[in-house]
Amino acid sequence: MNEFNLVPAPRSCQLRGGYCSLGLDRAVSAPEKWAQESEILAQWIREGPNGAPRVRIVCDESVVGKEAYRLHIAEDEATLVASDGAGVIRGAATLRELVLSSSSSMPRLACVDIEDEPRFAWRGFMLDTARNFFRVEFLEKMIDVAAMHKLNVFHWHLTDDQAWRLDLNFAPEVAAQGGIHRDVRYQEPVYQEDVYTHADVARVVEFAARRHIRVVPEIEMPGHVTALLASHPEFCCRGGKEPNLRFEPEYRFGIFEDILCAGNDAVLEFVDRLVQELCSLFPSPVIHMGGDEAPKTRWLSCPRCRQRMITENLMHADGSPNPEKLQAWFMEQVQASLVKHGRRMACWDEVIDGDMDKSVMVFGWRGNNVGKVAAGRGYDVVMCPQTKACYLDHKQEDLAEEPGQLGVCTLEDSYVFDPISPGLSGEDAKHILGGQANLWTELVPFGRQAEYMLYPRLCALSEVFWSPKDKRDFQDFLQRMQTHGSRLDTLDIAWRRSDVQKRRE
Ligand SMILES: [Zn+2]
Repeated sequence: MNEFNLVPAPRSCQLRGGYCSLGLDRAVSAPEKWAQESEILAQWIREGPNGAPRVRIVCDESVVGKEAYRLHIAEDEATLVASDGAGVIRGAATLRELVLSSSSSMPRLACVDIEDEPRFAWRGFMLDTARNFFRVEFLEKMIDVAAMHKLNVFHWHLTDDQAWRLDLNFAPEVAAQGGIHRDVRYQEPVYQEDVYTHADVARVVEFAARRHIRVVPEIEMPGHVTALLASHPEFCCRGGKEPNLRFEPEYRFGIFEDILCAGNDAVLEFVDRLVQELCSLFPSPVIHMGGDEAPKTRWLSCPRCRQRMITENLMHADGSPNPEKLQAWFMEQVQASLVKHGRRMACWDEVIDGDMDKSVMVFGWRGNNVGKVAAGRGYDVVMCPQTKACYLDHKQEDLAEEPGQLGVCTLEDSYVFDPISPGLSGEDAKHILGGQANLWTELVPFGRQAEYMLYPRLCALSEVFWSPKDKRDFQDFLQRMQTHGSRLDTLDIAWRRSDVQKRRE
């Protein structure tokens, strides 16, 4: 495409002729309001092996779009033009890539005009920190490299059957008991306690915000709650009836039948206080409340849940109780708590099965078609289908030696995925807000492995979410990855080289 080998590819890139020299002592100047952005840019371009050009950051309201930017590299300096701090950071990410891959034999950049803006507003990456705990330092490294790829949402999966990772002031017992994970690989079980404190959360939110990345927390409910039931067994349907009922965070993986009782008002009161604390910790306008994989076995045999279905008229056409509608009703109560704090709820796509209120943001994970159906019915959708696209816990190649689970998703699968499914018409397509890569960590016990699962598929997806569709070309992407891989090396990312190496041979 061009000699710069940028990933994701910019909208337009025009060589002007001539070169701009690099040095270790070049200044960055910026309007006062962008002091923070300027500081991040200066930090990023110091990573280049040959220094950086002099950079002038300029505010120009004629640049349309918060994340849009123009980057002009002339012989004497680089000018980065944007109308918002987010655009400055996206442009800084481009400059970071340029200096990272500058040649040591000729420390200079070709003069160029780049004009760029994102295709989709939501460009997310999710990390499951429940199945495996990752230190804050690792989260920061991951967020910083995601920022280079112009991603803008970190979806932080904080709770699941296997652990509850978020410390709560109003209910300290939840993390105290839910944050202890039993490792059964040893003859004597080993107990590990790992929880994020409020100070940890504040640090991650601030680190991401400086890179114009939003942190969207996710708390799972009504299913995937075994770690919560460890301290509150009374919150499940069997809770009131079996006095000796005890739970501990699961060491097994899968889907478990004990979920929150939708007929118990004490559960809703707990959720309301939880939402209040979440909103005080996370400034994100969107909060994710799970809503996936909730088996309805217990609800159907629970007198309180059955009573709720009767009282709230959550019935099938034949008059029998409809637990899918009960789930939609339950999630609507959670949503009401969020709305009190001016926030919007996001959920996995099961919520459309019970015809939930259209204001919920839907994460289409079960397949391309579910997302398409949701958009067609008027829901705003973030596309993250598990089918050969966005589930980065899947193997990258169908080999026994390759790490991964539950399927195969090659680099090319991720690259050719498009959030706008074929046949989605103009009006419905507007409900597709963007896409997201999800990394579940049942079989990813170390950060280094997480890097291997993420890269280079996340590079491919960043291009799917950012670049114009007509710019996408897998062979060209593989070619650019040769250079881009060396940037990942400089940033100490343990990326999977096989596909890019094959291309080289
Ligand atoms: Zn119940």
